[in-house]
Amino acid sequence: MKVIINARIITGKELIENGKIFIEKDKIISTNKNKKIPQGSEIIDAKGNTVLPGFIEGHTHLTSFPGLLDFKGHIYQNLKGVDKLQKFLYWGTTTVANVGGCSENVILKKLIDEGNLKFCSKLLVGGMMNPTGGHIRGKNADGPWEVRKVVRELISEGVDFIKTSATGGFMWAHEGLGNRDYTYEELSALVDEVHSKGKIVCVHAHANPGLEIAIESGCDVILHGVLIDEKGLEKIKKKGVYYMPTLHITSEKVYKNSSIPEFMREKMKKVNPHHRKSVGIAYKMGVKIAIGTDGGPGDIMNEIYELVKSGIKPIDAIIFATKVNSEIFGISDKVGTIEVGKKADLLIVKGDPLKNIDVLLDNKNILLVMKDGEVFKAETDYKIHLNI
Ligand SMILES: [Zn+2]
Repeated sequence: MKVIINARIITGKELIENGKIFIEKDKIISTNKNKKIPQGSEIIDAKGNTVLPGFIEGHTHLTSFPGLLDFKGHIYQNLKGVDKLQKFLYWGTTTVANVGGCSENVILKKLIDEGNLKFCSKLLVGGMMNPTGGHIRGKNADGPWEVRKVVRELISEGVDFIKTSATGGFMWAHEGLGNRDYTYEELSALVDEVHSKGKIVCVHAHANPGLEIAIESGCDVILHGVLIDEKGLEKIKKKGVYYMPTLHITSEKVYKNSSIPEFMREKMKKVNPHHRKSVGIAYKMGVKIAIGTDGGPGDIMNEIYELVKSGIKPIDAIIFATKVNSEIFGISDKVGTIEVGKKADLLIVKGDPLKNIDVLLDNKNILLVMKDGEVFKAETDYKIHLNI
C-alpha cells in the first residue's frame, strides 16, 4: 500500500489540509486522516506541497488530421502519439482527449487500457467529421443522412465522442472566423444521432452565424468561441452547454511563437482581449466552463494560468481541468477527483498553487505524477518512489 501524508489536497470537490491518501494497487481506498497507516506501507510525504487530481486535457490534436492520412500515415501518427502521451503524463495530465481522432486511434487507446503502454496518459478518442472543404479534415459527410451514416460508422468503430466544426478558424488563410460549416439541418441530425448512442458532440465554433447554429443544434461542448458575445453566452447557459474556451490558442505564448504562420498569429492576437473578456463574463454568469488547450503537453498549465488572469479563481480553474472534464467525457466514476473508489491518478505540486498559480508553469515544480497507483515522474526527494 502507498500512503501520501501531510498533504494539502485539492480533491476536486474540497480542500483538505494535512490529509492522508491511502492507495491500494491502482485505487484510492481511503482519505481518512485518522486511519492508521498499515505496517510496511510506502510513505510519500507531501509536506509543504499540494496534491491535485490528475489533469484531463479536453482538447488536443494528438495525431494530425485523419482525413489527410493513408495507412502508413496512421501508423506514423499513432507512434508519434505515444511519444506525446508520455510527455503529457510528465506534465501531470493523466487523461487526454484527442479531438482530431479516428478509429485508427482506438487501437492506441486499447493498448494503453490493456497496460501495454504504461508510460502514456490515458486516451479518449474523438472521431473527427466535417462538411467537405470545411475547417477540419476528418471524415467528410454532407447532408443529414450522410452525417448520420458517418456518426454510426465512427461510433461503431469505438470512438468515445464526436468532434466537428461549425465555423472557420485561424488555420486557413481563406477562412473567416464566422464562416459557416455545417447547416442547422446537418448539425442537428449529427447531434441527434450521437445522442441516440449515448455519446457527446464537441463543436469547434468561433463566431456567428455558425456559433449560433452550434448552440441551437443541442451540442454538448462549444470549443473556442473566441468572438462569443453576451447573447451567445446567455444561450449557452440556458441550454446547459459547456464552454471550453481554449484561451491558450489566443495567448501571448502562441501568437508570439514565430514558427506559426504570420496570418494566424495576427488573427489570434486581434481576438485576444475579446476572448478573455468573454471568459470573465461567462464565469460571472455561471456558464459551465471546461478546460482544453488546442495545444500540446504542458499547455494545460498555461490554460489554467490564462483563466486565472481572466478572473477565474485558481481552485475553480483546477476543478474545471479535473472534475468538470471527467463529467463531460463520462469518466467521472473512475477519475477526476481524489475520492475513495477512484483510480489513483494524481500529482504533487510544489508549494501552494492556490496562492501562486505560476508554480504550475514550470515542469520542475511537478514533483510527482501517479497514474493508476504507479509513480511515473518524480523530482527531488520523491525520486525514491519512481516505478521506473
Ligand atoms: Zn482544435
